[in-house]
Amino acid sequence: MNPSQMLEQFAHFPLAHLPTPLEPLNRLRQELGGPKLFIKRDDCTGLAMGGNKTRKLEFLIGEALANNITTIVTEGGVQSNHVRQSAAAAARAGLDCVLVLDDTVGWPDPAYHSSGNRFLDSLLGADVRFCESGEVRQQRIDATLAELQQQGQKACFIPTGGSNAVGGLGYAKCALELIDQAASSSLSIDHVVLASGSGGTQGGFVAGLHAVGSGIRCLGVDIDKDIPYVKQNVERVAGGTCELLKTGLQGLEDRIDMLDGYAAPGYGRPNPDTIQAIKLLARLEGIILDPVYSGKAMAALIDQIRNGRYREEENVVFIHTGGAPALFTYMSEF
Ligand SMILES: *Cc1c(COP(=O)(O)O)cnc(C)c1O
Repeated sequence: MNPSQMLEQFAHFPLAHLPTPLEPLNRLRQELGGPKLFIKRDDCTGLAMGGNKTRKLEFLIGEALANNITTIVTEGGVQSNHVRQSAAAAARAGLDCVLVLDDTVGWPDPAYHSSGNRFLDSLLGADVRFCESGEVRQQRIDATLAELQQQGQKACFIPTGGSNAVGGLGYAKCALELIDQAASSSLSIDHVVLASGSGGTQGGFVAGLHAVGSGIRCLGVDIDKDIPYVKQNVERVAGGTCELLKTGLQGLEDRIDMLDGYAAPGYGRPNPDTIQAIKLLARLEGIILDPVYSGKAMAALIDQIRNGRYREEENVVFIHTGGAPALFTYMSEF
């Protein structure tokens, strides 16, 4: 069985506009010199303003429906893109959605608590519950699941970022999609660069590469300034998704490349290079990045190109994972 047939065995609920476009970044390349640059537009997955979580949710919601779930419960920060896409996915599937949020970032702009993703969560009909200050998020989740069970709901919990083995299938599928796209335009991709947080995107993508024995290198930019945590997430999802795909694990570890040093001052807080990268892509390419993930990953790519990491004849694809809805709560940084 080939890997794309393998993926068809899993329960799947279509949510995304696929394939997402693969576009050249000609003006950025002119500016920077160095390798040929492309962008895979996973910000254009199409569900309620798009983003990378939609691919994972196709499999996570598929699994929930197969298990006759009535309510999904998931978690995240105030401006989580994952919870916004989960709320939209639940709406599309006719499921109830409870979101357990807490504020680990403490961003001072009042819009942070009312606009962007936070506004959309409520618009999409989710039941939003906030942790009290000092309350442990996991306790609130456990209490919520118990409460739903008592009410006769059949609830399932989707972890942070949708990053488990099943969610990873969405990015294994993305890897196959990108390989197909490249083949049909006779493009030989050498490197993929993406933002990594809860690890499901990179982990799933790497599992997809591994399943087909691809030579593409995938570099994950840590956006959390806590490299062991992010790397462990990536390893966990990569391993889990490979197990689902029944590919061996041999050599998988060598496929996991992380890049540190671009996350300061911490999760959810952009630095001056993040802001510069966002401005550059806006002004050269008309592309909107975000201050939490894709802006940091792009700042890393720009810096690595300037430092000569890639050769001129190499082809580098940046995966735009989305996140623009949160941008409006960071306007003071611009
Ligand atoms: C969640 C997210 C990421 C990181 O993806 P993980 O699978 O959590 O590593 C990157 N970019 C955006 C915009 C996100 O919302």
